[in-house]
Amino acid sequence: MISKKHKKISLLLAMLLVANWAYTADTHTINHLFELNKHASLYTPRTVTELQQIVKQAAQEQKKISLVGADKSQGGQTISSDKQAVRISLKNLNRLLMLDLAHKEVTVEAGMTWAELQKHIVHHGMAIKAMQSYDDFAIGGSLSVNVHGQDILYAPLITTVKEIKIMLANGNIVTASRTENSDLFSAAIGGYGLIGIIIEATLSLTDDVLLERHATLIDAHELSNYFLTHVKNNPKTCFYSARFSMGSNDLLKKALVITYEYSNQHNQSLFALASPTKDLWKKPLIELTSRVEIIKNWRMCLESLYNNMPQTISRNNFLNYSIETLPQERADSYNILQEYFIPYNQINAFLDYLKIVVQTYHVNLINITARHVPQNDESMLSYSKQDVCAFVLFINVDKNRHAYQRVASWTNKLIDKAIACQGVYYLPYHLLGTQEQLEKTYPRFQEFVQLKRSYDPQGLFSNALYEKYT
Ligand SMILES: Cc1cc2nc3c(=O)[nH]c(=O)nc-3n(C[C@H](O)[C@H](O)[C@H](O)COP(=O)(O)OP(=O)(O)OC[C@H]3O[C@@H](n4cnc5c(N)ncnc54)[C@H](O)[C@@H]3O)c2cc1C
Repeated sequence: MISKKHKKISLLLAMLLVANWAYTADTHTINHLFELNKHASLYTPRTVTELQQIVKQAAQEQKKISLVGADKSQGGQTISSDKQAVRISLKNLNRLLMLDLAHKEVTVEAGMTWAELQKHIVHHGMAIKAMQSYDDFAIGGSLSVNVHGQDILYAPLITTVKEIKIMLANGNIVTASRTENSDLFSAAIGGYGLIGIIIEATLSLTDDVLLERHATLIDAHELSNYFLTHVKNNPKTCFYSARFSMGSNDLLKKALVITYEYSNQHNQSLFALASPTKDLWKKPLIELTSRVEIIKNWRMCLESLYNNMPQTISRNNFLNYSIETLPQERADSYNILQEYFIPYNQINAFLDYLKIVVQTYHVNLINITARHVPQNDESMLSYSKQDVCAFVLFINVDKNRHAYQRVASWTNKLIDKAIACQGVYYLPYHLLGTQEQLEKTYPRFQEFVQLKRSYDPQGLFSNALYEKYT
């Protein structure tokens, strides 16, 4: 006779086995995808006609196409698991097509990076409105993720887009804007390369200006009030971020609010573009944070001292940082990003839960920062249906299956908490959310898939995100 206790234990073991199998499968899929990434044929067309030929040939041969920008997404968003799939990078389609200084607009080919765009516009006193914190990314890749940065007004990226040109699965090129093919506009921007190939974009620009840094150390639980009272309502604020304490003594207790305010200075020499690796000296310190616990305790003190030093910087130079200034993958570990968008009235609940997760799972934090993303739901896969505080986690993970399974385990819990807080998690990183979590946070996902199928019935454009969730 099997006792009730034994039955319970067997059931529990069976559940654990299933859970373990699910995570193992996930880990396997990701490793498998990265292997494929190395072997898939990569095309780098130099003209739109060449691109069109590649698309037509792949369609005829019933192959899948995955699109590649700067290839910095972390979860296979630029890779298909289909062994025959081709990858197309637009890095050679990176020309400046039009710069209209009177209307502060620029039209570029989508393979151009933000760094390349800055070089074209800086001499005209123009600057980019919305982009990531680093400028190595391709504009096509950034549009397909609908990225955001630290500017408190200009975000997400779609808000700065006038129109795009897209090559569809049948090879036809169409213009999409808020008034023309608006369904394609809202599906392709933030559509992870699944609707078609964005070949051109017209973006609005702003003036290059000088900015002055300010830093204030506050109690982390005061962040919401502080941001809404002193940052968002301050007409001088341009860029905003907050960095959280990460030491074992003060984990997530303090927040260093860093703002860049419009300056009255007129020092012309500050407008010249500096090197994108100008702050490379910070790299070893950031690197050490993931290796030496005591540095975590000292980081807030050092950051506070450093950021309180006066700094005047041009908008272009603030946006001109390379990801080379960040710690890179090591032999035994790698660094991953995650991001959660939480409404302001819920950020303390989320922070409290995050603290428990970090402590329980010994998450090796390199950075936790916050930004602001204003409400915008123009993209079908919008992550900011209301004003949100974006929590960015930069984490070091050991290169072994057990460590990855732990990340998967706590990530699912954190996504559930984000959902309970009416928040959203971000999709350009490891695809650890479940189908249910994805559809709860991106309620138009099925509508998006239907639209994709209507423009791409053969399923030509594909990647790990599409393959996992459809
Ligand atoms: C270190 C680091 C810092 C980051 N900081 C930020 C940040 O500050 N803010 C933020 O919002 N995000 C940030 N991210 C996330 C980043 O914005 C995304 O990973 C983004 O996709 C990277 O751009 P990419 O050019 O590398 O795109 P890729 O990774 O190459 O591609 C992204 C997606 O776009 C598709 N795609 C690429 N080109 C095209 C095209 N021409 N037409 C259609 N689809 C296309 C791809 O198929 C893929 O699905 C960061 C990521 C890293 C690694």
